[in-house]
Amino acid sequence: MDKTAARNRISELSALIKKYSREYYELDAPTVSDIEYDNLFKELEILEKDYPEYKQPDSPTVKVGSTGAKKFSQIKHKVRLYSLDNTYSYDDLKVWYERLQKNFNLEYPPKLVCELKIDGLAISLTYKNSEFSFGATRGDGVVGEDITNNLKTIKAIPHSFSEKIADLEVRGEVFMPKTSFEKLNQKQRETNGKLFANPRNAAAGSLRQLDAQITKSRDLSMFAYYGRLDSNELKIESHSKMLEFLKSQGFNINPAYRVCNNIEEAIDYCKEWDTKRQNLDYATDGVVIKIDDFYLQNEMGFTARAPRWATAFKFPPEEMSTIVEDIEINVGRSGAVTPVAKLEPVYISGSTVQRATLHNFDEIKRLNINIGDRVLIKKAAEIIPKVICVTQHATDKTTSFLPPEFCPSCGAKLVELDGEVNLYCPNHLGCPAQIKGRIEYWVSKDCMDIDGLGDSIVEQLVDKGLAKTPADLYRLSIDDFMKLDLIAEKSAQNLYEEINTSKNPTLPRFINSLGIRHVGKETSELLARRFLTFDAFKHASLDEIQKIDGIGDKIALSILDFFSNSFNNEVLQKLESYGVIPQEMPQNNESEKFKGYTFVITGTLSDTRDVFADLIKQNGGKVSSSVSKKTSYVLAGENPGSKLTKAESLGVKIINENEFNQLIGE
Ligand code: NAD
Repeated sequence: MDKTAARNRISELSALIKKYSREYYELDAPTVSDIEYDNLFKELEILEKDYPEYKQPDSPTVKVGSTGAKKFSQIKHKVRLYSLDNTYSYDDLKVWYERLQKNFNLEYPPKLVCELKIDGLAISLTYKNSEFSFGATRGDGVVGEDITNNLKTIKAIPHSFSEKIADLEVRGEVFMPKTSFEKLNQKQRETNGKLFANPRNAAAGSLRQLDAQITKSRDLSMFAYYGRLDSNELKIESHSKMLEFLKSQGFNINPAYRVCNNIEEAIDYCKEWDTKRQNLDYATDGVVIKIDDFYLQNEMGFTARAPRWATAFKFPPEEMSTIVEDIEINVGRSGAVTPVAKLEPVYISGSTVQRATLHNFDEIKRLNINIGDRVLIKKAAEIIPKVICVTQHATDKTTSFLPPEFCPSCGAKLVELDGEVNLYCPNHLGCPAQIKGRIEYWVSKDCMDIDGLGDSIVEQLVDKGLAKTPADLYRLSIDDFMKLDLIAEKSAQNLYEEINTSKNPTLPRFINSLGIRHVGKETSELLARRFLTFDAFKHASLDEIQKIDGIGDKIALSILDFFSNSFNNEVLQKLESYGVIPQEMPQNNESEKFKGYTFVITGTLSDTRDVFADLIKQNGGKVSSSVSKKTSYVLAGENPGSKLTKAESLGVKIINENEFNQLIGE
């Protein structure tokens, strides 16, 4: 790979991984499987190692999770929570173990503790004087969300314990049993509620509820897998002893944990549980292998995002075979027509799969797939299932499945667009599927975020002729909503209010909601920051848009195309006349104070490192992840680690947060 290609791929992968992380951690709605995510992550790690000069300062490879969606107040963790390195290969486990022995000059193979990797949500519980004081999500490892009240509703979390201990932090994984997950989804189906993709999302969604009563009504549990005493008066010297101590104090410890004498025993444990896990009533996506001895753990320390003394072995993704009952045709909001396989329901790793994407008609040809065929479905580490291959063709089918000629929603003749694999329905204004898609997109979380306006309501609004464009939502009355099935007066009133309170969105949100082709959330942010008002954005020239860093010709042309379309302008005018007016962006307070200066941030500061990195960038500076002679300043917080030592040895100026604030203030 040449340098330009490497730089482009690093930037592409970083953006993609950030997007997937947000969907996974903040929205509890991942769109790719874990294995796909992990593969992209590994690819990025390798490229960053080979081309360190292109590694982005805020690369996802040095980050843990996400700070959350700002739904809850934030809690700064006393001691940072890390992620785990992971692998799907036994050979990698051996390499990890041998490297530790070699790097830390160990004369004997160190003891290991193997635990099931529970597929839920990491939490941290703080006990003061043996009483539960507060609890938080992992967040980005430094700052998590305060979910104390919700955690108090979980029976597996003790409110107090018998041993007299001043300070104890317990970490664990909150999860929902598989049977409870199935029951919850069944209930959601009956009440037209949101379905959860798997037990992990159900647990995360249930725990991060603003109303603790909802959390209480969901069957959540927790396994504790870590304990930290501020002063080790109990002289607990190993992880296995800590687990036993926690158990003696009433914490729920996974009974399957095992102390192993070496990596071979640990690998046997992984093999054993790869098959036995099917019988468990909770989801596990692997095994966590930890060095048992606390002294050794301390010696080994951490990388930027994970402990060196632990690693995760992930179970291979599950595959199941089933029958394709039908091939349905889906029409998206842009008119793209995609085939979806309707499957005989099949249960894979904790949830029932009934549909799998077939992507496009070329894929159908490639797989040579037909209705009635038996296919192998891969539900990687969960989420969107895929058809891997046909294992047995239906005997009664002699002809191939042919792409449709006409739109299944409006009957228009489908067209092919130059350079695109998809077929398109050209009837943008009149096709009900596209109209519904656009309105569904408009009200969605990342767009106008109108709560309560689910797909079934949008469907009725369009079918009854009450809405043809998103603008029509703003002229609907409470009476209009009451014309819909199953909508009582109170809900109609709520919907009306939700729509009306959405009338002054932020500018990035508004731009994103327009559904301009190739313009997603991040591009909308860039555009808003550059143009500050919607009017300025609307009248921007091709040249002005192209000059924005991160926006290419394709996006710029698509924006111009959008504003030259008379239908779009009509909708925009209607929105304005109904009072839907985006806010202006605050004036840029960017300065060039740090122009030419490169900062490295280390240790724990009063806010997340991202906040400080943003401040540096807003003032024209650069942020790097590693210290070199070119570093201008190292901004060091508490527990700064090896970067501080390196800065000292290179004579780089080290400043604390106060000094940094003075620099900015000057
Ligand atoms: P992780 O889930 O791979 O491992 C770390 C976590 O394991 C810990 O934070 C803890 O919550 C959990 N854990 C469960 N049992 C444990 C035990 N016995 N001991 C210690 N920890 C235990 O790491 P992560 O940082 O939470 O997430 C990264 C992973 O999440 C990725 O590898 C990927 O598989 C998945 N992910 C998927 C998507 C997606 O879009 N599908 C996006 C982001 C992340």
